[in-house]
Amino acid sequence: MSTGFTSTQRERLAILGADEQAGRSFASEAERNQAFTEIEKKLCRESRSRIERILAEKHTSDAFDIQCALERWLIEDMGFTKVATPSIISSDMLSKMSITEDNRLRDQVFWISSNKCLRPMLAPNLYVVMRELHRIAGGPVRIFESGSCFRKETQGAQHLNEFTMLNFVEFAACKQGEQVDRLESLSKAAMSALGIEKYELKYEKSTVYGETLDVEVSGVELASGSFGPHRLDAAWGVFEPWVGVGFGIERIALVKGGHKTIKRVGKSITFIDGVPLSV
Ligand code: ATP
Ligand code: MG
Repeated sequence: MSTGFTSTQRERLAILGADEQAGRSFASEAERNQAFTEIEKKLCRESRSRIERILAEKHTSDAFDIQCALERWLIEDMGFTKVATPSIISSDMLSKMSITEDNRLRDQVFWISSNKCLRPMLAPNLYVVMRELHRIAGGPVRIFESGSCFRKETQGAQHLNEFTMLNFVEFAACKQGEQVDRLESLSKAAMSALGIEKYELKYEKSTVYGETLDVEVSGVELASGSFGPHRLDAAWGVFEPWVGVGFGIERIALVKGGHKTIKRVGKSITFIDGVPLSV
């Protein structure tokens, strides 16, 4: 009777990045265990040399490089300004995004006190900053932020509880009626800055924005874009046209690196740049 890898062995193979071996069958347990030991040894050796190369030559993760590529494009080619705002926001800020008691997203929020939470998105802070910058300087305001966002997710291969959002927004820069064109052209330019040629732009329903323009690669959502004037704008004292796109940095690293799960490329104490540390 043939036998397969045990569940512990299969888990270990998955961590070592050899999921494709998991379905193998063997004539006996002894043969299976010997095969497992050999595969594990080889994979550990490979992982260790990848880690040595990261430390000696590469120095940065793919996720970081992706973030830098987008930021360089925004700053150097597009004239955007980088801002940094707090990860802790108030309950009022969420409510102004229409994430009130009856919204599904409300259940995904990490509360740290009765009226403060870890931000699930960058948009609330960006609304305030873009409004204030426009009040002071007038004219078009182009800003972006890259930072952690937090959502309680029912964990899957594409969701992290903490992920890095890069959200850029262009305010009072295009005329009413030009937003959709601008949103599409900014999304396309961002994908070109990332060196990704095959992707789809899709309009999707969104509980917060009504409708979003999503950028997808092989069915994985990399970004969602939206535009205003929008029903949420008045609460923020914002009345001019705007377009904005939020990219998930780890989603891009997941797709570009061809990884099975986003955990390998997220903030982690068990992986570095997609390579397991348990080797
Ligand atoms: P999804 O439908 O895939 O859960 P979403 O539409 O809820 O994502 P958005 O609010 O549009 O996500 O956030 C913008 C981008 O942030 C997404 O396109 C995705 O790339 C990324 N993102 C959102 N949630 C997560 C998460 N839990 N882990 C990693 N990346 C995420
Ligand atoms: Mg989305």
